[in-house]
Amino acid sequence: MSIAARRTTRRRTFARGVHPDEQKQLAAGCPIEALPTPPEVRIALLQHLGAPCQATVEPRSEVAVGDVVGRAEAFVSAPVHASVAGTVARAAMATLPNGRHVAVVPIRAAEQQPLAGEPLIEDVFGGDWPLERLDRYEPLQIVEAARAAGLVGQGGAAFPTHVKLSPNQQKPIATVLVNGCECEPYLAADYRLMLEAPAPVLAGALLAGRAAGAAEVIIGIEDNKPEALETLRTAARRTPVVVQPLKTKYPQGGEKQLIAAVLNKVVPGGGLPLDIGVVVINIGTAAALARAVLRGKPLTHRVLTVSGGGIRRPRNLLVPIGASYRELIEACGGLKEDAARVVAGGPMMGFTVGGLDVPVTKGTSGVTVLSREEIAKAAETPCVRCGRCVEVCPMGLVPTKLALATRVRNAALAQRYHVAACIECGCCAYACPAKLPLVQLIRLGKIMTS
Ligand code: SF4
Ligand code: SF4
Repeated sequence: MSIAARRTTRRRTFARGVHPDEQKQLAAGCPIEALPTPPEVRIALLQHLGAPCQATVEPRSEVAVGDVVGRAEAFVSAPVHASVAGTVARAAMATLPNGRHVAVVPIRAAEQQPLAGEPLIEDVFGGDWPLERLDRYEPLQIVEAARAAGLVGQGGAAFPTHVKLSPNQQKPIATVLVNGCECEPYLAADYRLMLEAPAPVLAGALLAGRAAGAAEVIIGIEDNKPEALETLRTAARRTPVVVQPLKTKYPQGGEKQLIAAVLNKVVPGGGLPLDIGVVVINIGTAAALARAVLRGKPLTHRVLTVSGGGIRRPRNLLVPIGASYRELIEACGGLKEDAARVVAGGPMMGFTVGGLDVPVTKGTSGVTVLSREEIAKAAETPCVRCGRCVEVCPMGLVPTKLALATRVRNAALAQRYHVAACIECGCCAYACPAKLPLVQLIRLGKIMTS
């Protein structure tokens, strides 16, 4: 692989966007800690974009950490693995934050787990991560390791990583972009990973570049994370990886906005980064790819942030997939009295959950608990046609028209205003002085036109 070395200190960005109150200070200083092993995990058989898995285990069977419990038969799918050692319970259903009802494999945790606490963190991120001689791994070997490990995008979209990295003769990849922006307010898990585990992040970035046949690998980081920029720059000194600072602006971590900022390229409407020779992967995904390829370990745990004004002790936790939001919140000291809303992910793009018995999936980047004060807002008033929603939309859409199209149930109008191009970033709702629920209306508009 020939990866061009290209270093730049000029901060870049994309057009439009907003500057929400970041609130990163709540969790950014909290080192990654391991969640105590929960009594039960529920492994969702669909926690990625694509086809669901088929359960491979029967009730009462014993499983070890890393055993496959759901097989992926379709190409666009990803197997799921036991995240604790224990006994499989009867199959059940769970509701994910996006409202989908999915089958889960419940596993009752054994009293003795092979690893917990600090030794677990050391096992996942510690030890030696050689950055040299990664060319001994063939591209197809890396793709197959990503598939077998069940890797999916950990930034939220949960697209299977092996599909992104698979060689495509028609659409060769020139650039692998590693997304270190973490632009959602409150979330700090990727930031902590960059600080505490730069070697697996870099090894994964290089392996992704090799698998995709990319000429360059660039890690984009917002300039509100100077320590992460410095740590990765230092770690990458003897590698061809470029660490690119970006202006802090929301949604800088959106795939299309990241590509526009770093490469000055536009993903065509309805297209994918692949169409312009780019693959984007998340920081957590890069670290997981290194673990899959170099150590043969599947994705059984992930780092996420629990934060917000409604949680007693914000933390960054290494969590077994399938643990419940209730356990995360208990591990963070519980809810404050004025806790008012629990959001899966960050407040801009996240989904409000109706209860706490929601299982963590591979794409769960965090849980944000907002206080009454944080969600206090003026009552919705009529649109004053100020145009702010149009000014901030990073996709160049007209959110007010899209919301109107949903309200009057006019699917043709929604399509005419390109509802499908909305990335649901929430900039329009954030900027709207009338406090109109623009994103919720646009989401409904997407369903109306699908
Ligand atoms: S219309 Fe969609 S893409 Fe544009 S600001 Fe609103 S949520 Fe973001
Ligand atoms: S920002 Fe709100 S009030 Fe202003 S034009 Fe858009 S929808 Fe109307």
